[in-house]
Amino acid sequence: MKFLDQAKIFLKSGKGGNGCVAFRREKYVEFGGPNGGDGGRGGDVIFRADRNLNTLIDYRYSQHFKAEAGGDGKGKDRTGRSGSQLILKVPLGTQVLDETRTKVLVDLVESNQEIIFLNGGNGGWGNARFKSSTNQAPDYAYSGQPGVEQWVWLRLKLIADIGLLGLPNAGKSTLLSVLTSARPKIADYPFTTIHPNLGVASFEQREIVLADIPGIIEGAHKGTGLGTRFLGHIERCGILLHLIDINEENIIKNYQIVREELKAYGANLDKKLEIVAVNKIDSTDNKRVLSKMNELEKFGIANVFAFSAVTGEGLKELKRGLFDLISFDQAGDDNLKSCNTDL
Ligand code: GDP
Ligand code: MG
Repeated sequence: MKFLDQAKIFLKSGKGGNGCVAFRREKYVEFGGPNGGDGGRGGDVIFRADRNLNTLIDYRYSQHFKAEAGGDGKGKDRTGRSGSQLILKVPLGTQVLDETRTKVLVDLVESNQEIIFLNGGNGGWGNARFKSSTNQAPDYAYSGQPGVEQWVWLRLKLIADIGLLGLPNAGKSTLLSVLTSARPKIADYPFTTIHPNLGVASFEQREIVLADIPGIIEGAHKGTGLGTRFLGHIERCGILLHLIDINEENIIKNYQIVREELKAYGANLDKKLEIVAVNKIDSTDNKRVLSKMNELEKFGIANVFAFSAVTGEGLKELKRGLFDLISFDQAGDDNLKSCNTDL
């Protein structure tokens, strides 16, 4: 499945049906009264948040969406049929912005949340509505109200319990692949992951959603490397898991580079609860692991985890630590399927 987190689309609600001009025709009644029915309502354009989606890719191939028009009214007081609603399914965490991308109009943050975005036009009144004591035979009806149209931007900001953070090659994608059934691309060169991946980890019958965010490097907030596009996805992660490769010469500096990027991005990313873990402990000896953990703790980072995604050492402790931090009050809302969105 391909990943897309921005798309521009055109929306139009259905036009209301026209009112009808008609008169009763009965045997022996010379002038039957007016009986033209009203037009039906046009269909609304509705957004629905769907937990099982995690890309906006469908909106790349098809960009125009129109709800159905209402049917015209008919004689014998028959109202036109209502136009069907157009329901657009979008991934949970999708925002709808105006055409200039400056204003968030709608933010779909709850599973199955539905928002009527554009109302369908009202049906026009048929001539039966206009009958009065002074006008027994109105020969006019109203047209239906036109639909409303609008260009909007969709922007997906993934919602995950835990966002994986760290420099390129820290081992984020590997960790996602061992904790969940997601299969992101893994390689020993930077930026193998070119867009976020989501996966679901389970532990003692509970589930959490992890997001693998492509590596950020110094200057990401200014658009270096993959830029800040994906930092936006961190905004909606409950907790950050910051990974550091144990083999890095200066792990404090490494840590700081990522922290600086978070701060520079703004949006309070640097205020989020962060767990730090050193990775790849299989590739060095215990002495170095302990001394590096000490270094981090002296720097003021408490409760550092150490693990190896390759041998599995320390993974259980890490998992338990993460699960203990997440509140599980969203019981029943666990139907998110794991999905690897790598190209
Ligand atoms: P990312 O850029 O943070 O997503 O990093 P990747 O998951 O793509 O991993 C970068 C490289 O580190 C790959 O060659 C992985 O095989 C390697 N790697 C990841 N985790 C471990 C680990 O626990 N031990 C060792 N020895 N190598 C690892
Ligand atoms: Mg990666």
